[in-house]
Amino acid sequence: MRKTPVGEVDNLMIVVAIDGPAGAGKSTIAKALAAKLRVRYLDTGAMYRAVTFAAMNSGIDLSNQDLVAELARESKMLLTDESVVINGLDATSAIRSSEVTAAVSAVAANSQVRTELRERQRRWIADHNGGVVEGRDIGSVVFPDATLKVYLTASPIVRAKRRVAQSGGNVEEIAAAIASRDLQDSSRSDSPLTQTDDAVTIDTSDRSIDEVVAQLVEMTNIRS
Ligand code: C5P
Repeated sequence: MRKTPVGEVDNLMIVVAIDGPAGAGKSTIAKALAAKLRVRYLDTGAMYRAVTFAAMNSGIDLSNQDLVAELARESKMLLTDESVVINGLDATSAIRSSEVTAAVSAVAANSQVRTELRERQRRWIADHNGGVVEGRDIGSVVFPDATLKVYLTASPIVRAKRRVAQSGGNVEEIAAAIASRDLQDSSRSDSPLTQTDDAVTIDTSDRSIDEVVAQLVEMTNIRS
């Protein structure tokens, strides 16, 4: 039996890559899609957030790229659908704090951190025999031969309002924070947020979750 190298997607394994800016509906849609397809769900943003949390928690200067990368390489990370544990610490809530959210894009621009997390993401998918993976560079870099690539987007005001509905805050402030994070994520040199030509782009501004999920189930089934 041929063993598929880690990072490659064979045609028996379903990998759906969901990329897009903050607040586009990626998590909700990716989780629901994974449940419908009966595969696992991987939130790669949670991994970048977990490294950011662990670095801040250890008092590491986030601009010290080597130290942050060393911490990423040495960290034990356990991700389930419900929780994120890093080095034995349950960071499920802390990784969503405004402090981590404000700092994560700088950590995600660290190439050594990206190399490490990319490797872990590919290993995770190989170990779980596929899945729905959400992030910023999944279709472009992590799984360029994914079964289906989706780029989710929504208008800035809709995205800000969704975040406020989820976690509270002021719409203008949240919109500014999202815009700043999107700019950092799409302008970094290593694997920036980008829309690949072979991705299906869906604007979720005026569409229900169920409608989008049903469309993606159908598209995945056609391609697998
Ligand atoms: O998806 P989420 O908003 O939780 O991601 C947090 C941050 O992690 C993003 O703003 C981005 O800087 C980084 N990220 C990334 N590549 C991914 C997933 C997330 O750079 N594949």
